[in-house]
Amino acid sequence: MSIPVAGGASNRSTGGRPAPAPIERCGDFPVLRQRGQREVFCGLTGIVWLHRKIQDAFFLVVGSRTCAHLIQSAAGVMIFAEPRFATAIIDERDLAGLADANAELDRVVTRLLERRPDIRLLFLVGSCPSEVIKLDLSRAAARLSNIFSPAVRVLNYSGSGIETTFTQGEDACLASLVPSLPQEEAHARPSLLVVGALADVVEDQFLRLFDELGVAPVRFFPPRKAMALPPVGPRTRFLLAQPFLADTARALEERGATRLAAPFPLGAEGSSLWLRAAADAWETAAAHFQAVVEPAQQRAERALAHYRSELTGKRVFFFPDSQLEVPLARFLSRELSMQLVEVGTPYLHKQHLAAELALLPPGTSLSEGQHLDKQLDRCRAARPDLVVCGLGLANPLEAEGLTTKWSVELVFTPIQGYDQAADLAELFARPLVRRARLAV
Ligand code: SF4
Repeated sequence: MSIPVAGGASNRSTGGRPAPAPIERCGDFPVLRQRGQREVFCGLTGIVWLHRKIQDAFFLVVGSRTCAHLIQSAAGVMIFAEPRFATAIIDERDLAGLADANAELDRVVTRLLERRPDIRLLFLVGSCPSEVIKLDLSRAAARLSNIFSPAVRVLNYSGSGIETTFTQGEDACLASLVPSLPQEEAHARPSLLVVGALADVVEDQFLRLFDELGVAPVRFFPPRKAMALPPVGPRTRFLLAQPFLADTARALEERGATRLAAPFPLGAEGSSLWLRAAADAWETAAAHFQAVVEPAQQRAERALAHYRSELTGKRVFFFPDSQLEVPLARFLSRELSMQLVEVGTPYLHKQHLAAELALLPPGTSLSEGQHLDKQLDRCRAARPDLVVCGLGLANPLEAEGLTTKWSVELVFTPIQGYDQAADLAELFARPLVRRARLAV
């Protein structure tokens, strides 16, 4: 299910307003900025991967039946396990009084925590129905934290489709957690914090490489256990593992931490440059760095070569969705020689993407935000070989004979690091192979 956002159930209603289409510049690139109807999931979607990451956390969506349906459809696999998310449905009968809704929320949380003593961290996740907007979830979280701490910490963030696109749910979640991070000790040695949910297997691979590079201590945020929150302070350097964490990065900087600028760890080159940023901060000798990463880098390059015959020269068009678009475009153009027709992204964070933009081919056509109809027109006119887009656009475009890749898959699949580089290429090659087979 694709949730049209910004403006409630659908922002087609904004179509009456003339949509400005200014061309601005971002470094060497012209950027087309557009506003209008968008087609993306809302921030609740982040729960699908966050509940797997923080294993003793629970996500209680305070929302409507639509929210419950989205979460259950997107994360239906959880019916086989002890659920770590649910929806408290606030429907119209609660509009009679906010006090009733707050009391009902307290009752739901109390019942949940009595039944599930394993929960250590409870997120109240806001959504966009008007009755939920009227509820002050930050006060509710503070009230419930007072009641249930120290056994359970209760926090809140918004996954509302009015405020967030789907990967921003993770940003809002992690940003809400930053004030709870312990202060690093006064004489702590410098530490590295890797920020952004990664699959456990990817974390373990990076941890081994950091260890060989002499980069330590290394911690991950979010942690696997809610009570193992990493300390933060002026001696903390952090590397973003995901490009959609603007609020989290700002909150960490406000705690004194320093961001290490780097491209994101996608592909062999991206992984090396990302690791290099940490190695440079720890003053690892260049020769030692090369000796540590070279075997993994060469292995990844050999694995990628397998996909070049399929992908080289193919033209790819990105609709804005996950905020992974710019790093993916860099990977596809530099490591697989694909041609970038348009790289659309919901937000272009100039600082966080600076190292990525520097690696894009000159003249790459970037767009930020979306006016869906106009972008569809540009896509149809260009007839790219591959379109990377949200679920809601994929089927109609396939019906028009275009080949698509669901961007949501790129978030749900482990794609970071050397050992996943070929899996990432495979995600783009597979729809092209399928289309070629259908054409025979
Ligand atoms: S938060 Fe808003 S956009 Fe997301 S499922 Fe709920 S009602 Fe729909």
